[in-house]
Amino acid sequence: MASFIIVVCGRCGGFLAAKAEQKTRTCPYCGSKILLSKSKHVAIANDAYEALNILKTLKKKAAEKRKHQ
Ligand SMILES: [Zn+2]
Repeated sequence: MASFIIVVCGRCGGFLAAKAEQKTRTCPYCGSKILLSKSKHVAIANDAYEALNILKTLKKKAAEKRKHQ
């Protein structure tokens, strides 16, 4: 059972991790309040360590994408 979800901020497109039981989360990048049930889930993780690793990978991918555009 996954305990962490990785979601995308609807306002700034930043990736962030939240505990699965949380309902809302404040975006660390733009400060907007995110309703987790209505946000786009990109990944799930079993623990905080895995969640952080997924975030790292996603951010790296996003940075590489920007570089190639
Ligand atoms: Zn944001």
